[in-house]
Amino acid sequence: MALALDPRIQRVWRTPDCLQFGVEQPLLVLDDVSAADERMLAALACGVTREGLQLLAERAGAPPGAAAALLKRVAPVLTRDDGSEGQDERPPGRPPLVVLDAAGPTASQLAVMLTDAGAEVRGGLAWDDPALDRAEAAVIVGSYAIEPQRSARWLRRDIPHLAVVFGDAGVTVGPWVRPGAAPCLRCVDLHRTTADPAWPVMATQLHTLPPPGEDAITSTIVAARAAALVLAGVGAARGRPALPPPVGVSWRLVRDRTDKGSADGSDARWGGADWVSAAWEPHPECGCLGLPP
Ligand SMILES: [Zn+2]
Repeated sequence: MALALDPRIQRVWRTPDCLQFGVEQPLLVLDDVSAADERMLAALACGVTREGLQLLAERAGAPPGAAAALLKRVAPVLTRDDGSEGQDERPPGRPPLVVLDAAGPTASQLAVMLTDAGAEVRGGLAWDDPALDRAEAAVIVGSYAIEPQRSARWLRRDIPHLAVVFGDAGVTVGPWVRPGAAPCLRCVDLHRTTADPAWPVMATQLHTLPPPGEDAITSTIVAARAAALVLAGVGAARGRPALPPPVGVSWRLVRDRTDKGSADGSDARWGGADWVSAAWEPHPECGCLGLPP
């Protein structure tokens, strides 16, 4: 098993014998770095076995135990090449497949961002397309709400999905739904119905409208947030630590209505692009988490 310094952590020399890991948020500062240590660190930067490092230390004239001591010191900034990163079911080298259940500017931006990050992106797939069997995530873009039939399909196929919903007062990204493990989009819709019993009737009139205010700036901001969440969800945030996105949380970008521009809101300005989060609980009438319906 190869030992290696985490390539995502920037290294910088503070003095000729003091090495810092991480610049703006230092993770480790190594003092008294000897010439032998420096050679071992160079090997660790490329990846080396424990035995190889030991041999290198001996050839560099390091005292006994120097390799073990250095490994102990740099433990917080090591990564192990044991294939533990990423999804465990995906064959090595195959990019994660993200499906876009969406069309329009936000979907186009998402496709560019996800592809740039190393994901495979497909859109416009028929529901019986075999490619869906290996989909690791889906993004659904809708107007005012996601139609229950659309979200139910992803739920039934057990594919994690993210909602992006444009409204006339803002855009909501999330929640990230992990089927069977977190509140689903129907839960969100049921909570909305609890707050306003007329909501289902209104929603059916709004689902098929074009997303309001989906201009270039808005779609880019929204796509960036959605892409980051999805990449974290599929463990493919290349070059960055990939913590899974929180479930049961949505983020809303509220449109600043002080600028009363065009009727569809496309001239409105965003109030500094601040996102406001909201937490969602499973709805007792949904049953998506095995709760009694
Ligand atoms: Zn639910």
